[in-house]
Formats: sequence, structure tokens, C-alpha cells
Amino acid sequence: MTKAVLRIEKLKKSFGSREVLRQIDLEVAPGEVVCLIGSSGSGKSTLLRCINLLEQPTGGAIYFKDQNILADQVDQNQYCTKVGMVFQQFNLFNNMSVLKNCTYAQVKALGRSEQEAEETAKKYLRQVGMIEFANALPRQLSGGQKQRVAIARALSMDPEVVLFDEPTSALDPEMVDDVLAIMKDLAGSGLTMIVVTHEMNFARDVADRIVFMNEGIILESGTPDQLFENPQHDRTREFLARAA
Ligand code: ADP
Ligand code: MG
Repeated sequence: MTKAVLRIEKLKKSFGSREVLRQIDLEVAPGEVVCLIGSSGSGKSTLLRCINLLEQPTGGAIYFKDQNILADQVDQNQYCTKVGMVFQQFNLFNNMSVLKNCTYAQVKALGRSEQEAEETAKKYLRQVGMIEFANALPRQLSGGQKQRVAIARALSMDPEVVLFDEPTSALDPEMVDDVLAIMKDLAGSGLTMIVVTHEMNFARDVADRIVFMNEGIILESGTPDQLFENPQHDRTREFLARAA
């Protein structure tokens, strides 16, 4: 038994003959905020997509609270409801209102009543400052507003872990800080988060741990101070110099 929420062991993912993830080991404790950094193509998105089973790993294990969710008899649908995801491109349901975006999976996947789902959704829409847009359609919103709705949608499932894949990379610069501020609040509230980001100031400020990925492996990881002040590998130094 460990106190990890997630424990990833020797995770591998190949696309055809191309090995994109090689032997990834990663543990995430309850309430921990892990920032994943690394060059484009290093496998960050693939790792998140393996964690929430949008991609099927080709090897290794993913333990959620000590249960290997890749084992045959496990209810993967139930696991997936516990792992929220926020995408770079928002991935809202464009034909549904903001409120419906936030209630749909609660009713479908958690079996909540419409009323309970709406109350939960409204709580989180209020938290991200989007309650007055509950009846709007996604196309009526700015990018930053869409991402705030996407965050409320993920939170509405009351997940145990939320994965963020470059949540501010598609936003106009003036919207980035709003979304980062919400994420910082969430981190402070004790939510367990894995965040792929190029926002080094955010990572330094908010992360408990930084993980640097390079060519499908975790090259090094540590506290923000360790990683930013005293990187152990040339490759990490080069990356940080370019990202600064
Ligand atoms: P990152 O998010 O760090 O930029 P990705 O995880 O998106 O990296 O991609 C890692 C590598 O895997 C890249 O070379 C990418 O082209 C490849 N890749 C990702 N998804 C697929 C896929 N569905 N089919 C084939 N190759 C893929
Ligand atoms: Mg990516």
C-alpha cells in the first residue's frame, strides 16, 4: 500500500514501431501538483492520454489507489470518471449550453439526477466566474471563457485527479492569467493536478514537483527549486534556457 493516488510503473506507448513513451515511472500523492515540461514531441500529451485511457498503453501499469486499472477485470469507465481532463482546444460540446456541458457526463456517467447535476455544475461555474453564461453556447464565448467552462466541466465530476494539457497555449495573451489564476486557486484548495505547461512562472510558483520529459522518458524531476536552480542534465538546462 502507498498513499499515492496514481502510481505509474514502466509505462510504455508505441504507435506502430515508434516508441513514444519508454519506461515512465511516476507517483502522484493526494493534493500534489505535478507540472510536466519538455519539448514538443517528448510525449507529454501521450502520457496524459494514457493516464486517462484515451490511449491504450502498450506496457506497464497504472495504479489508481493501489488498483492496476490496466488489469482485465477493472471497471475502466468508473476509473475514467475519477480522472478529469482539460484540453488545449477546450473540447466543449459545441451544440450544448455551458450548463449542459457541465451536467451531461454527471447524468450519463455518474447517474446523478438533473437537479443534482445542475447544482454541482452551478457551484463550479460560480467558482470559475462563468455562472452568468450558464445558458450561453460555446461559440458565444472567448477562448479564456471556454477554458474556464472546460475546467468547471471537469470539476463537476468531482474527480480525484485533474489532468491539464497545455490549458493556456491556445489562449490570447490577455486571457492566460485568468485561467492560470483559477488553476492556482484549485492547486491551493488541495486538488491533485498534473499540468502540462510551457508557463514556467506558473510551474515554479505552483508546482510541488516538476517533471522534465525528453524523448519519451522522464529525464529528471524534482522540486521547482531543484529543477530550475540546479538541473542535473545538459538537456534540461538547454530546455530551460530556451523556455525562459
Ligand atoms: P508532446 O505533447 O510532448 O508534444 P506528444 O505526446 O503529442 O508530445 O507526441 C509524442 C510523439 O508521439 C510525437 O512524435 C508524435 O508525433 C507521436 N504521436 C502522438 N500521437 C500519435 C498518434 N496518434 N499516432 C502516431 N504518432 C503519434
Ligand atoms: Mg502535447
